[in-house]
Amino acid sequence: MKAVVYQGPYDVTVQEVADPRLEDPTDVLVRITTSAICGSDLHMYEGRTDAQAGIVFGHENMGVIQEVGSAVTTLRQGDRVVLPFNVACGFCTNCRAGKSAFCLTVNPPGAGGAYGYVGMGPYSGGQAEYLRVPFADYNCVPLPPGEEHENDFALLADIFPTGYHSTVLAGVQPGETVAVYGAGPVGLMAAYSALLKGASRVFVVDKVPNRLQLASRIGAEPIDFTQGNPAQQIADAVRDSGTDRGIDAVGYQATAAEGEEQPALVLNQLVDTVRPTGTIGVVGLYLPSDPGAPNENAAKGELLFRVGRYFEKGQKMGTGQADAKQYAHQLRDLITAGRAKPSFVVSQHLPLNSAPDAYSRFDKREEGYSKVLLQPGT
Ligand code: NAD
Ligand code: ZN
Repeated sequence: MKAVVYQGPYDVTVQEVADPRLEDPTDVLVRITTSAICGSDLHMYEGRTDAQAGIVFGHENMGVIQEVGSAVTTLRQGDRVVLPFNVACGFCTNCRAGKSAFCLTVNPPGAGGAYGYVGMGPYSGGQAEYLRVPFADYNCVPLPPGEEHENDFALLADIFPTGYHSTVLAGVQPGETVAVYGAGPVGLMAAYSALLKGASRVFVVDKVPNRLQLASRIGAEPIDFTQGNPAQQIADAVRDSGTDRGIDAVGYQATAAEGEEQPALVLNQLVDTVRPTGTIGVVGLYLPSDPGAPNENAAKGELLFRVGRYFEKGQKMGTGQADAKQYAHQLRDLITAGRAKPSFVVSQHLPLNSAPDAYSRFDKREEGYSKVLLQPGT
C-alpha cells in the first residue's frame, strides 16, 4: 500500500510499504478515508525528536472497517469509524478512569500509545491506505454510515477533543472569560470548545492573520502578539485582574514576542494573563528532551518557568496528552445533531501524494494552511 514515510528532517515521501494485517484477535483493519496532518507531526518532521527514518506518520485517522479480528464483538466490516489518537486497552486502571492517554497496558506503559508517533508504541500511522487498530472495540468510535460530516468527524481523532480537553483542564464554566494562546488548529478548537461551554469572552493570541481571522469568525476576540504584550492587551480588554481561565495551545515551540527570548514564554504569559486563583490548561506540547533546541537547558526540556509568580497568584495548572477518547462520543453527537461544526478550521483536502508539499507548507504556517486533510482514496 501507499503511505507517508518519514525520511529525515523536513523530508517525507509517499511510497509503497507492506500492507498491515490483523496481528491479534482484538484488531481490525481500517481502510483510511481521511487522515489529517497535525502540529504534533511537525515536531517529528522538523527533526526535534528521536523519530527514525521509516516511521509512517498519521495519528488523526478515520475510515471504513475492512477486516475484523475474531475476538472483536461490536464492529462489522463496512462500519464507518473514527480513531481517537490514543491507542489504549480500555481495561487498565487509567482507561477505566477515562485517562486513555495514560493507558498502562500499551507500550510504553503509562506514557500512552498513539498511531505513527515516536515513543508512543509500535503502532504504525494512518497517512496510508490501511491501518491496523488494536483493542478495536475500545479504540474505534462508530460513526453514522455514509459520507456526511466527513471533515467534522475526522477532527474527532485529535484536535476537537484535545481543544475540549484543554477547557476541562482549565475548568472553564459558563459565563467565564478565557485566554487561549495559539490560533493553530488546536487553539481554534480550544476557543470553539470554550464558546460551546458558554464562556462569555474568549481571547485568542497569535500573529498569523488568517488564523486570527478564523478566531474572529467563531466569535472569539483576536489578539495579535506582535502589536504589544498580549497579557496587557487582554488585561485592557477585560478591565479586571485577568481572565478566569487560560489555555496553552502553543507548547515549547513558541515564537518569542517583543523583548523576550525564552521559549517558556507562553506559560509565563498565561500566569500574567490569568487572574489570581485562576486555572491554566496546557495541551501545547512540552518535550522531555529536544535535540534540536537552540540552548542546552531547552535541549534537556528545562525551560525558565517563573514559578514564584505562579505561586504568588495561587493558580492551578493541568497538563498532558488529551484523553481524546473520553470526549469523542459526546462531541460526535454534537456534530450529528448540527450543534457543532469544527470543520471551519479545515483548509485543504488533498490526495496522499500531496503530503510532501502539504507538510512543507503547513510547517511554514503558510497563509491558508490551517488544517490539511489527506484523503488516500482520492
Ligand atoms: P500549530 O503549530 O499549527 O499552532 C501553534 C500556533 O501557535 C501557531 O499558529 C503559532 O503562530 C502560534 N504561536 C507561536 N508562538 C506563539 C506565542 N508566543 N503566542 C501565541 N501564539 C503563538 O500547532 P497545532 O496543531 O495547533 O498544535 C498546537 C500544540 O498542541 C502543538 O504543540 C501540538 O503538538 C500540541 N498538541 C497536543 C495534543 C495533546 O494531546 N496534548 C494534541 C494535539 C496537539
Ligand atoms: Zn494530532
